[in-house]
Parts: sequence; structure tokens; C-alpha cells
Amino acid sequence: MHGRNNLPWQNTRDAYRVWLSEIMLQQTQVATVLAYYTRFLQRFSTVTDLAAAGQDEVLALWSGLGYYSRARHLHRCAQDVIALHGGLFPRTAEQLQTLPGVGRSTAAAIASLCFGERVAILDGNVKRVLARVLGFSADLAQSANERALWSMATELLPTQNFLRTMPRYTQGLMDLGATICSARQPQCLLCPVQGLCRAFAEGEPGKYPVKSRKIKRSAQALSLLWAHKGDGSVWLEKRPTPGVWGGLYCLPVFESDDALKAFLPQHVQARLEPLPRFLHVLTHKDLYLSPWMARFRPNQAVPKGVIAGAGEGAWFSPSQWPALGLPAPIRRLLVQAACA
Ligand code: SF4
Repeated sequence: MHGRNNLPWQNTRDAYRVWLSEIMLQQTQVATVLAYYTRFLQRFSTVTDLAAAGQDEVLALWSGLGYYSRARHLHRCAQDVIALHGGLFPRTAEQLQTLPGVGRSTAAAIASLCFGERVAILDGNVKRVLARVLGFSADLAQSANERALWSMATELLPTQNFLRTMPRYTQGLMDLGATICSARQPQCLLCPVQGLCRAFAEGEPGKYPVKSRKIKRSAQALSLLWAHKGDGSVWLEKRPTPGVWGGLYCLPVFESDDALKAFLPQHVQARLEPLPRFLHVLTHKDLYLSPWMARFRPNQAVPKGVIAGAGEGAWFSPSQWPALGLPAPIRRLLVQAACA
């Protein structure tokens, strides 16, 4: 039998578990998701538990998975399921798509895997598999071509016995894209659909899918103020949403070293210590981060970062950090310093 059958979100028709895995797997590899998925379910075993939690706790558990808007939507979605749907996920892709953070493909995955609806998924992996199998050479950067592929994906769906066939078909397609039909090195000799595959027959799987638009990367330099007090506590403030690290707690962020210094009183400026600059790579952006450390007196507040809309700040002791939603590089920085 082909495919994976041992992942914790497989072999279940529980929409909460399938939805949670689908959201986590958007833009994140299976190996990374496994530990987060388990931790989330240990803490929030039902959608009711998740809806009742505070956003800070949800973001803290998500910390390190990236794309934090997913976590904020996840939380709002759970609250909508409770408030608008009586605590049960809707059973059709059309209704599922009305929930925060649930797009067309995610809705189709939940509806087909959990409720046997005859509806096609088309996430990045599945686009690749179908484009190769069908020899679909139109540019998927154009939405008309993507719609055409979606129609073809719908035509290929099973035609009967949906409760049994749809979960198996959908799971099989997802597994094929995640394992054998990989982007760079498809293992065509092991592939169960090799005999149907146009790209294989042409000897050029790498030609598909065609997508002309490339992600444009940018770079940004930011300065971080690491304000601390004698008891080890650090000043952290909530990042604005939307934006990088939106909703997470972070060291105050400034657009330059000069901007950071200009915000500090003279006597604090005199005690500023530069720490080694480091690079943090996001999907669309390279961040060059320059931390500056300064010791503050008890009861002394810290000026807000100059990035527009920065939220409220407070002093947090090391024992409070684990429960906060912190960007992964900031958490690493603080933990390394605490252990030094
Ligand atoms: Fe992908 Fe190769 Fe299988 Fe075609 S034969 S679906 S290119 S792994």
C-alpha cells in the first residue's frame, strides 16, 4: 500500500484535528509540525478549549512555527466555530471557507477527509502532482489557468461511494505530493501513477508546474533594545498586526541604531552595549538584527519602538518568558543570555 498512514492526524475524521493539522502544514514541513501538533492537542484537546484560551497562550504555543497570522486566525476560527456553529465544524467546503484562515483548498481537504464531500483540493503539492500527471503547461501565475487546473482536478475525483473514496483519494494525492513527487527530485520509479503521468512520459517532470511569478525577496536592518533590570527581567512589547511577528511580544524594535539611541535618555545611552548583529531569514525578507543592551533602574519605563502602532509593553521575568508568544530569534537570544 502506498502513502503514509502513521501521522497523528491521519486515520481520523475528527474535523478539529484535521483542521489543526491542515493549518499547521501550510508552509511548514511535516517533521516540524509533528511536535507542535502534539503539544497543541495536549493543551487544547477540543475546539472549545482552544476558543476559551487567551491569544497570548496560543501564540506562545505557536512560537517558532512562523507565519503568526495563521495562529491568530486559528484562534478566531475556533471562537467562530463555538459562537456561530454550535461547537461543530461545518460539513461542507462552502461553509468551511467562511471561517477565518480557511481557504478554498483547506476547506476542501477538511470536507473531503472528514465528511466525504466530492470536492477537489489544490495546495502547492497537489498542483505540482496534477500539473505533471496532466502535462498542464499553462502558467499558474495567472488565475484563469489556476481555475482551469481546479476544474480538471474536480473532473478527476471519484464518482461514487464518496464517504469511502474521497478521504482515500484526497489523502493519497496529498501524500504523493509530500513524498514521492517532490519539487526537485521526484522518485518516478517508485510512483504508483507513473503509467498515467505525461511528465514522466516526456522525461521532464521538472518542467511542471509552470509559474512565472517569483517571490521577490527584500532585506531590512532593524535595531532591538534589550532593556533589562537587575532582577533579570526584560522589557517586551506587543508587535502590531498585521506585520512581521504581529501579536507577539518582542524587544522594542527601531528602524536604525540612531533611532534607538535617540529614544533613550542620556544616562541610559551612556550604558548601551552593542551585541553581535545576526541574520534572521523570513520567507520574503532577510532581517539583519542589531541588539543593544541597556540596564534600567527599577520602575523605569522604556520608550516604545518607533515602528508605527507598537503595542503596550511591560517587564517580564525569565520565568514568564516560556508562556509568552515570542518570535523564535528573540526567544533564542533571551534564552542564550539567561543560560550564559
Ligand atoms: Fe510525479 Fe514522477 Fe509520479 Fe509523475 S511519475 S506523478 S512526475 S513522481
